[in-house]
Formats: sequence, C-alpha cells, structure tokens
Amino acid sequence: MTEPTRILLDENEIPTHWYNVVADMANPPAPPLGPDGKPVGPEQMLAIFPPQILEQEMSAERWIPIPDEVRDIYRIWRPSPLMRAVRLEKALGTPAKIFFKYEGVSPAGSHKPNSAVPQAFYNREAGVKRLTTETGAGQWGSSISFAGQMFGLEVRVYMVKVSYHQKPYRRMMMQTWGAEVFASPSEHTQTGRTLLAADPDNPGSLGIAISEAVEEAAGRPDTNYTLGSVLNHVLLHQTVIGLEAKKQFDKIGLYPDVILGPCGGGSSFGGMAFPFLADQAAGDKRAERLRCVAVEPTSCPTLTKGQYAYDFGDASGFTPLMKMYTLGHDFMPPGIHAGGLRYHGDSPLVSQLYHEGRLEAVAVAQLPTFEAGVLFARSEGIIPAPESCHAIRAAIDEALACKATGEPRVILFNLTGHGHFDMSAYERFFSGQLENYDYPAEAAAASLAHLPKVG
Ligand SMILES: *Cc1c(COP(=O)(O)O)cnc(C)c1O
Repeated sequence: MTEPTRILLDENEIPTHWYNVVADMANPPAPPLGPDGKPVGPEQMLAIFPPQILEQEMSAERWIPIPDEVRDIYRIWRPSPLMRAVRLEKALGTPAKIFFKYEGVSPAGSHKPNSAVPQAFYNREAGVKRLTTETGAGQWGSSISFAGQMFGLEVRVYMVKVSYHQKPYRRMMMQTWGAEVFASPSEHTQTGRTLLAADPDNPGSLGIAISEAVEEAAGRPDTNYTLGSVLNHVLLHQTVIGLEAKKQFDKIGLYPDVILGPCGGGSSFGGMAFPFLADQAAGDKRAERLRCVAVEPTSCPTLTKGQYAYDFGDASGFTPLMKMYTLGHDFMPPGIHAGGLRYHGDSPLVSQLYHEGRLEAVAVAQLPTFEAGVLFARSEGIIPAPESCHAIRAAIDEALACKATGEPRVILFNLTGHGHFDMSAYERFFSGQLENYDYPAEAAAASLAHLPKVG
C-alpha cells in the first residue's frame, strides 16, 4: 500500500476554536509596559485596536471561539493541505519522513490571511471604517487588503521602501483589493518626514513602517491599526495551522518528532507549534520527544543572538514596551530578500517559551536558504517564498542528520507561502548577485546599547 502524500480535511473540519497557549504556560506572560514602566491598561490600546482584539490579546482562556463569519471566509482556502515531500526525501536519500503544511493556498499566498480576516471582522464589528498597517515583503499588506475588502473596510498600507521597489506586484495586488499603498518612510506622517529629512535614501524597515501606521491610527477615531505578527492575538489566530496539522497527522497515525518554521515576528511559527505544545502540557506521550525549532536569518538573528529584554515594537518608540528577544529597536537589518524576517524583535509569547526552554531556534544564511528552496521546487514543484526557504533549509539539514544516524524521524515544516511574487530574488540568486550577510554584530551592539531602561 502506498502511504498518503496529500492529507486533506473536509471544510467542516476547519477548527471551531483557536488555541491560546497562555493557558498552558508555566509563568504568566510578561505584560506590555507604558513609558512610565507600568503595565499598559486596555484604555490606552483602545485608541488603535477594537475591544474584542484587546480581550484576546490579554486572554488566558485556553479555547477561543472562531466567529462563523470568519470561518466562512476561511473556507475560501482552508483547511490547507498537509503534504508529504516524498520526492525531496528521495533526492536527499534520507530515511526521514518530511511533511509540510502548505499555507500558500490562501488568496494572498501565505498564512497571513489567517489573522487578517478575524482582525478585519472584529474592527467592522466595532464600527471602524478604515485600517492602517505596515508591510515588509508585501505579504501582510496584501492579506489585510484582501480581508478589508471582504468586510467593506478601507485599507492604507505603509510598505517598507526596499520592498516597495523590489515587489511591485505585491503592491498591485493590494491595489486590486482596493487598498492605498505608500513607500515607508513616507511624507504622510511626522515619523516619516523626520527620517526623510535626516536621510532621503532611508531604505525603511518594518519598525519604521509600524511607527507610521500607528501614528496615523492613533490620530484618527475612525481608523484602527492592524499588526501582521508579534502580538498574542495574531499568534492565537494562526493556531488554525497547527490545529489542522494535528488532525491531519491523526488521520495517518503519525506524530512529528520535529517542527520547523520560519520566524520573523513569530506568528506562523507559534501558530504551527503551540497546538503541539498543548499536547506536551497535557502529558501526551507522543509529544514527549517533540522539538519545535524557529528558523531565522543569520542577518537578523533575534532569538539566537538577541537579548531577552523590554524593548519597543517599532523604531521610534510609539508602541508599548514588550518583553521579547530583540536586537534593539533601531537595529537596521541588511536588505535580505526574506523581507518578512527583517524584524528586530520577536513575539513575546515565542520569546518567553524560548527563554523557558520549550522552543528552540537556529539561524541560517541567505544562500543556503535559496539553494534549499530551489531543490524543493525541483523535487516538489512548489516555488517557496524566501521566508519559507529558511524552514526548508533547516528541514533538509534535519533530514540529512537522519541520513547520518539512520533515524526515520517525522519532520514537519511550515511552508508559509509561495514565492510567485519573489521571482526577482530567485533571479538574483541564479545570477550570483545574492550574498551571505554575516551577523551585523557591531550594528546590533550599538542598537542594544539604546534599549529603553525599565524599572
Ligand atoms: C510574514 C511571513 C513570514 C514571517 O512572519 P511570522 O509572523 O514570523 O510568521 C514567513 N513566511 C511568509 C511567507 C511570510 O509572508
């Protein structure tokens, strides 16, 4: 009998609840702090977020119901397939079984609509008319543009300038879904104007774009801000990935030994890994040996080289302080092509669980990630996003380690998106123009010296 290679669920098997890892954490999450060093109350955050999102952000409930209207939109592409990469296994000659959860089947081509859709929904419920956001590679911007359109909201996107120029088609996707897009830093906000006055060629960063989007939302009552990663509610929404994957593994009677995911702000990684941590917390024997490994770029190695400290989520200090692994809020990562992984910080939940030893992390360089992505495309057919190539690299390294030891491990990685709008990055790779950036130790040390003082 051939073993299944494409494990599908029925649309009625879309999860009915998101899983909140806070319910199973050894210690309560470190609270976000205001400029005075005191925990931020919900009142201050209501200027930019709707009440139901804030409730989720602070919740310790284990299961949170997914509204029917959100599940109805999820049906457009969910449940996403769990696939076995048999041809990749063969190409590597590994005894390991390699599985991937393919999130590239969404309208925007990545996992990000999993959170964009509920965020747009809760904002519409709260009577909000307009959403702002930042985007790096354009994945989040296109996701919130799509989701805003589904619920009749206007969307304004501040897009990191290097990506704005590298990824014109992402910009046009957003415009197709009705959004306005600005290159960040822009002339539309005080933050942008100040930075452009100091350096008209500022290439932008996710941190700067966040500052611009937050500044606009805070200044207008009809406008709220949305964030595509990092915050607890985003990780909560992304748990549909791991919850589905568990059902899919149940169908074939297997359980992963190692889970790998690219890690920028940590939402897709948390969303994939947390439901499996729930099994560990419940004493499930199958989960005893499970390792969950976040994969990040060597050029922006937040978990592997950063400090666990309170820092701002954005470049200019608008956001509350969050306790997280950080390279410093004014750290400017090199312009690598995995734009979604160029963030100075990380999710506080992922950071705390990593700090407590429940998660692992590894950093990989740019060229080996593209080599892995090309091998994957040539064996499995799907062309992965540069961010996803990080997980593929690490999955291949795991599979090669199994080859050395003869261990038939079950490897699961998150194929967070397809790379159809990243072909210019592949072009640069094929023409030898991509480089391996080392860890910019000096730049990180300089920016870590500016960490805000707390307490
Ligand atoms: C945004 C993005 C990531 C990284 O973001 P996380 O919040 O860490 O998940 C990874 N892969 C793709 C395809 C993305 O668009």
